[in-house]
Order: sequence, then structure tokens, then C-alpha cells
Amino acid sequence: MKDLTDILIVGGGIIGMATALELQSCDGAAKITVLEKEATPAVHQSGHNSGVIHAGVYYAPGSLKARFCRAGVQATEAFCTEHGVPFDRVGKLIVATSDAEVTRLSALGMRARSNGIDIQDVDEAALRKMEPHINGRAALFSPSTGITDYKQMTAVMANLFVQRGGIIRYGEQVITGRETSTHVAVTTHHGEIHAGRVVTCAGLQSDRVIRTFGQDPGYRVVPFRGEFFRLLNQPDDLVRHLIYPVPDPERPFLGVHLTRKIAGGFTVGPNAVLAFKREGYKLTDFSAKDLSETFGYAGFWRMLAQNAGSAVSELTASVSKRAYLKRIRKYCSHVQLKDLSPYPAGVRAQAVAPDGNIIDDFLFVRSARCLHVGNAPSPAATAAVPIAAHIATTLFEPHTQS
Ligand SMILES: Cc1cc2nc3c(=O)[nH]c(=O)nc-3n(C[C@H](O)[C@H](O)[C@H](O)COP(=O)(O)OP(=O)(O)OC[C@H]3O[C@@H](n4cnc5c(N)ncnc54)[C@H](O)[C@@H]3O)c2cc1C
Repeated sequence: MKDLTDILIVGGGIIGMATALELQSCDGAAKITVLEKEATPAVHQSGHNSGVIHAGVYYAPGSLKARFCRAGVQATEAFCTEHGVPFDRVGKLIVATSDAEVTRLSALGMRARSNGIDIQDVDEAALRKMEPHINGRAALFSPSTGITDYKQMTAVMANLFVQRGGIIRYGEQVITGRETSTHVAVTTHHGEIHAGRVVTCAGLQSDRVIRTFGQDPGYRVVPFRGEFFRLLNQPDDLVRHLIYPVPDPERPFLGVHLTRKIAGGFTVGPNAVLAFKREGYKLTDFSAKDLSETFGYAGFWRMLAQNAGSAVSELTASVSKRAYLKRIRKYCSHVQLKDLSPYPAGVRAQAVAPDGNIIDDFLFVRSARCLHVGNAPSPAATAAVPIAAHIATTLFEPHTQS
């Protein structure tokens, strides 16, 4: 006999678990099953990130990122408060260190304000008062940025879901999905499950999983390692806030930032270098399959051609600790080479279009019975609860093939 479930969720990261909880709260009688290929929740991106509750400063006005991130700050804080997950609204300073950065900072401030984000201008003297160890010409202050532990948050979501009658099957990898007019047949190494609706939230494997369901995702995941260091030998008051550089318009990521950790201490990172394995956290991790897919994808080479300068400088910062340190010393000259101690890296699932463009916004792929979360990069941990609410409201809407 086949296993039957009303709703099947693929992926036990923060988006999968938030979606499971949300769908359960919409329909307490529905049988909802989560399939996760690893042995525990949040093994990949949701357990290897900066732990920042982003306020929504950077995102294009009107984008899904802007909308869901803004709502995500309150939703994350509310979830953490209700369920005893530690968080701290520490605030963040985005620090400009040159004339060019001061100009870009003011454009960033305008973007934040048009997103409805509380953002305050800070001049050099005020910055020195706020952060005596930080050097900069000017800064933007975002008081609502915070920190938490997304791995713990995901684990709490998973426990709640199970306590309320949900089913999570760990160690079960989805191999194929076939949609019919009455159900979706999903196969794993353990057998077949028939579901009325399917949501996939497969992170670094999202494009592959979408393809196994017979859909064209319209992008390929290119994995980027984000390397961090823990800062040793620092006073507790090294910084009171999170310290970010002004983002470089040539680079898709936010830059190496100095982050207070919710469990104590500080990290710096992450940079962004091509990973040789989608779920490979060590520099030496290598997958012939992953690498040949990346190198065989024309979109990858087009992206590389469009971002050649930043690719070289990211690689330099990866192989040379001294080059990495230079990025931090730009705004915090207090840090020395001996203070940088290895800290676990993360791997970002970056969706790249066939024309080489890095897909910036969150992306969903629909069919009649399936909703696939395609691109969900940062700030998707912050935005997980609103993303889940969006999935819950759209999953049962009729879908017309475009
Ligand atoms: C270095 C780094 C720093 C970041 N910093 C921040 C930050 O500070 N703030 C923020 O908001 N966001 C941040 N992010 C982004 C955030 O972590 C991710 O956007 C978010 O965790 C995505 O969650 P997810 O559930 O989509 O993916 P994941 O957490 O990757 O989960 C996907 C799950 O799907 C499972 N899976 C895949 N394929 C299958 C299959 N075939 N069958 C069964 N299971 C499958 C995987 O095992 C995995 O558990 C950061 C990310 C990185 C990498």
C-alpha cells in the first residue's frame, strides 16, 4: 500500500519547517509530512549562516525580499519570544570609509527609507562615540537589526510541528516527483508517497528537485562558500553593534562584516568563493558531479565574465588570510592576523540565470499541485515566517499554466 499524505514538504531547513507549522495552523486536520534527507533539521544553509535578523535595508523597493524581510523581523522576534529562542536587537552600523562609499551610503539610506525602514545618519564624531574601535567617515544606523540562532529556531519549529501531530521523516531523500490530475507521486529510497499538494524547499538542491518534478526552474544553483573567522583576544566591548561595510555594487553579497554572536564572541565574514561541492563546508570538499554541472553551465561562465574582478578578489581573500584581514582592518584596525581563528563556513545557494545574471529576488515555481521555493538566499532566514505564510495562501490557489 502507498503512503498517503495531504501535504508533503521536501526539505527540513527553516523554510520547510516554517511552512510545515504554518500549513498546520491553517488546517489542523490535514496530514502534513516533511521529508528531510539529513538526520536532523537545519543541517545546511539554515544551520550555517551569520545569524542576523536583517531589517531590510538593502532590497529593491517592491521586491519580495523587501516585503518579506520587513515582515520577517517582527515575525522572527515574535517567534523567538514565544518559544524561548534567544535573540537580541543589537542594531547595525553600515560604515563608509571613503568618499565613494559615503556617496553610496547616502543612496543606500534613501533605499532603506523608501522600504519604510528606520535608518539614521551617523557622522564621523557620532560613530566614534558609538563604536570607539571602528574607523569610518560616516555610517547608517539600523536600530531594528538583530541576531539569533536560526539552527535553534528551526529545531524548535520542528519540535512544535511534531508535538502538534505533524510527521517528519529524516534520512529520506526525494528522488522523483510525478504530478497527476489527482495527486503527486513522490519516490524516495524508502518507497512512494502520494500527496495532494507538495511544497519543495530544497535550498542548495532546489533546481535539481524542481527538475525531478518535471519543471524547468529557469536557473541553476551555483554554490558559493562563505568563510568566517572567529575573533580571538577581543574585549567584550569591541563593538556594541553589528558592523557592515557599504556593499560593493560589483558584488552580489553584503561584504565581510563583524557580527556579535548570540552565544557570545564575535565572527567576521562571510566572503564568497565558488564551492567545489554544493553541500561541502571544507575548502577541500569536492564533488565531480556538482563541479561538472557548474562548469557545464553557460550561465556560470557568463556570470564569471560579468564579475571577473570580484571573483579574483574573493579568491585572493580565501587563499590569503592577510587579504581577508585587510577587509576587516578597513573599518576595524584593532584586529590582527593572530586574532583570526577558523570558524565553520556556510554555502549559499545562488540562483544564476542562463544569461549569467544573479537572480536577486526570492523565486517560486508553480504547477497545479506543487509549489517549489526556487531562489531563497539571504535574508530568507529572517523572512522564513512570511515566506511560509505566502506559501500557505498560494498553495491552494488555482494555477493556470503561463
Ligand atoms: C554564509 C551564509 C550566511 C547567511 N546569513 C544570513 C543571515 O544572517 N540572515 C538571514 O536571514 N539569512 C542568511 N543566510 C541565508 C539563509 O541561511 C538561507 O536563506 C535560509 O537558511 C534558506 O533556508 P532553506 O530552508 O531554503 O534552505 P536550507 O536550510 O538549505 O534547507 C534545505 C533542506 O532541504 C534538504 N533537501 C535538499 N534536497 C532534498 C531532497 N531531495 N530530499 C529531501 N530533503 C532535501 C536539505 O538537506 C536541507 O536540509 C545566509 C546564508 C549563508 C550560506
